[in-house]
Amino acid sequence: MSRIVVLGGAESGTGAAVLAKVKGFDVFLSDKGKIDGKYADLLNTWGIPFEEGRHTESLILNADEVIKSPGIPSTAPMVRKIDEAGIPIISEIEFAGRYDTAKKICITGSNGKTTTTSLIYYLLTKAGLNVGLGGNIGKSYALQVATEHHDYYVLEISSFQLDNCYDFRPDIAIITNITPDHLDRYDHNMENYVKAKFRITRNLRPEDCFIFDSDDQITISHLSKIVLQCRKLPFTQTPGNEPEQGAFVRDGRMVVRYGKDESTIYLEELALGGRHNVYNSMAAALAAKASGIDNQVIRESLSTFQAIEHRLEPVLSVGGVLYINDSKATNIDAAWYALECQKKPVVWIVGGTDKGNDYSVLDDLVREKVKAIVCLGVDNTKIHAAFEGIVGSDNITDTASAEDAVRAAAKFAVEGDVVLLSPCCASFDLFKCYEDRGEQFKQAVRKL
Ligand code: ADP
Repeated sequence: MSRIVVLGGAESGTGAAVLAKVKGFDVFLSDKGKIDGKYADLLNTWGIPFEEGRHTESLILNADEVIKSPGIPSTAPMVRKIDEAGIPIISEIEFAGRYDTAKKICITGSNGKTTTTSLIYYLLTKAGLNVGLGGNIGKSYALQVATEHHDYYVLEISSFQLDNCYDFRPDIAIITNITPDHLDRYDHNMENYVKAKFRITRNLRPEDCFIFDSDDQITISHLSKIVLQCRKLPFTQTPGNEPEQGAFVRDGRMVVRYGKDESTIYLEELALGGRHNVYNSMAAALAAKASGIDNQVIRESLSTFQAIEHRLEPVLSVGGVLYINDSKATNIDAAWYALECQKKPVVWIVGGTDKGNDYSVLDDLVREKVKAIVCLGVDNTKIHAAFEGIVGSDNITDTASAEDAVRAAAKFAVEGDVVLLSPCCASFDLFKCYEDRGEQFKQAVRKL
């Protein structure tokens, strides 16, 4: 019996371990940190041996194959040793893909993955298909392959999850866009990061589809250097750019051309606001068309989809001021789109763990839309340096908790304004994660 060792005991690792068990492997799971109770319970239920708080080499280096969780970098000492021992290392996605014959729609990119994935899942479900939702979102793909049956999967896949994919093949692959993020895991080399994202396309066959943002220069430039056999379906908002096959915008409408069919939907009818969500909606509509879904279902679904938590999520209006939670905006590009779609004066809550941001790209938007800035982070010097000259020193203040930030924002805001938490930064200086930051923000708003 061949032996599979899984490194990392969270969502993807435990899912992979269960699938390996179901498929009759000798499985062992090892996590250097602590394993969350619910995952330990799952392993025990399935009778899978595991260790936590250490990696025992003698139990790991006898593996025939190792499944590495995406959170563990390839430079981790144990991973290096496995590599040196010549043991193949794969990802949970690669492993689960071997046992799955469903049609797979896979979404990667720098921003918009979760939104686009959720939209497509909603569209396919509305069309009455039997669909699993997974990858970086919800239940792991491997656990579903082990314990459920679906005809389709919609999978959000991060570049870390793609790193150890080799033969995995989506039927429809989507790259939402590529902007610098997580460069620390790619030797600060943009080319490596771009290549990692493009791994999603490497096994596409002529009948498969690749859906991409043709307004994104990084995507286009990489695409010009590689050969893809599959159908290419670009989406674009550049005026006058109307691809023969793909999606574009004309006269306030989104137009989707697929095969011989051309369908339209008014941008105003789209449930998700903002220019970025027009991109996400176009990508989702193309994936739905390529899955054979009716225009009517696509139109209805795109106009009834509910905003997802922490992504431009309207929280509450207090005294005529609308509070919006965009805690998931952890980089400049995401915050750019959040500011861009605001139509009312904005009190902007920004800050956290800076990933090497160049704030100057936001200058024009801040000048045009932002009346005051509330910094929410341990070190706010870069934000002051970038924007104090624009909003004025009386209109910028520092806070160190969600509650203080909301109170400070409420003081700046008057009826008709918007308070927008769109931090441009990771949350780890003051919060557990972006969800925690968003939750605390919403709690504080409800207390106003
Ligand atoms: P991801 O899963 O890739 O992190 P999300 O859908 O969770 O993406 O959105 C993350 C943040 O990026 C949110 O603040 C959202 O408003 C913003 N965003 C969503 N779609 C896009 C897009 N296509 N381009 C730029 N920013 C986007």
